[in-house]
Amino acid sequence: MAEEKKRPADNFGGPIGAGFLTIVLPIVILYLAFADKFNFSILEIPPIELYNLDAKAIFSCFLILSAWIIFQAILYLLPLGRRVPGTLLSNGKRLIYNINGLSAFIVSHILLLFFYILKIDISYLFNYYFEFAIASIIFSLGLSVYLYVNSFREGLLLAEGGDSGNMLYDFFIGRELNPKIGELDLKYYFELRPGLIGWIFINYSCLLYHYQTFGYVTPSMLLELFFHFVYCLDAFVYEDSVLSMMDITTDGFGYMLAFGDISWVPIVFSMHTRFLAFNPIELSTTMLAIIFALWIGGYYIFRVSNSVKCGYRLNPKSPEYADIITISTARGTKLIVSGLWGMCRHPNYLGDLMVGLAWCLTCGFSHALPYFYILYFSILLIHRELRDSSMCQKKYKKDWDTYCKVVPYRIFPFVY
Ligand code: NDP
Repeated sequence: MAEEKKRPADNFGGPIGAGFLTIVLPIVILYLAFADKFNFSILEIPPIELYNLDAKAIFSCFLILSAWIIFQAILYLLPLGRRVPGTLLSNGKRLIYNINGLSAFIVSHILLLFFYILKIDISYLFNYYFEFAIASIIFSLGLSVYLYVNSFREGLLLAEGGDSGNMLYDFFIGRELNPKIGELDLKYYFELRPGLIGWIFINYSCLLYHYQTFGYVTPSMLLELFFHFVYCLDAFVYEDSVLSMMDITTDGFGYMLAFGDISWVPIVFSMHTRFLAFNPIELSTTMLAIIFALWIGGYYIFRVSNSVKCGYRLNPKSPEYADIITISTARGTKLIVSGLWGMCRHPNYLGDLMVGLAWCLTCGFSHALPYFYILYFSILLIHRELRDSSMCQKKYKKDWDTYCKVVPYRIFPFVY
């Protein structure tokens, strides 16, 4: 029998890069979650307090995290919202997804209200942040092992890039495209729910600590909370668009996404509010206005470009899109080359980066650590653009070359 041809392990620096990231990313998370112990200063060496670790507290955090994940999974499975078909898979099938993230977001807030009425204190989230970070790493590692082992069952649809035959690499990228437990589509569920809503809940615990410590809330803190809330709300209001993201259509579900969804998002995304919880940063009104203008500009570019692309692809004949200029391709789909999509090939990334920069600037200029976000996010999106471009090159062939000539800049107009 001819041996099945495996895909090359050629992304993220291959097996060595995947192994490196598997080890280094949790260390980054622990460093960030520990940052208040060294005053958020990158010049200070973190104190070695790990021997003080409270195993009982970590276990409690693990149980709370597991309960949260189960709670969000139940909300996902409830017959709320719409059921929408996903992308056409290579086996000719389409999966059906529950689009009810907004309901889950609202119900979670009702739960928070109950906590408040019942005097259940959410400061636990703040006080045991580091322990929660450890629990989230353990959870994502456990889940990834489960996903990897389970992906060897017969007849599963594997992700194109996650089946190289190299254990470390496939563990990182994810072998199975759409692992499920019953009706629960694990990759889709984890992409938005527990981590994203968890992040906003961590933000509330930061607000509480900040208010209890200083007796007032700084405009910077309020602005940051608002920025984060809108970002999360946007993800749920436009939840359908996740279905066309490469995470869902192409990538397998392995350590990369599991760790990203469960550990990275809640810890890295809440780093600004955690920093502001300890540091009552006072920015001038002019500075706040500049940051707000940057954010609103970025959010406009992010939202309009994503909505135009998704809306046009769904309903190209709508009068709304009458003025859009496109390039027709042999593949049948059209590539937009006017408006924001004529400015660069990924205006949605540009907008997202402007939003992220606004988050960082809201933390002022006294510390460098809050700027970690824009650094890593720029690397992530530049790398993502390269991955997407190489996939589009394969999909569109010569049409992609034509498109690249018409729209020469990748993310930053006139720069890159
Ligand atoms: P895109 O939404 O840009 O999707 C890329 C795909 O769109 C391409 O593969 C191609 O697929 C199609 N496409 C490319 N160019 C055009 C064009 N000119 N006209 C029409 N279709 C085109 O990328 P992502 O899914 O990566 O990102 C979506 C959003 O999510 C972005 O705003 C990004 O910033 C954000 N994001 C946020 C992250 C976070 O951690 N906060 C992480 C990752 C993404 P095809 O033609 O086959 O349809």
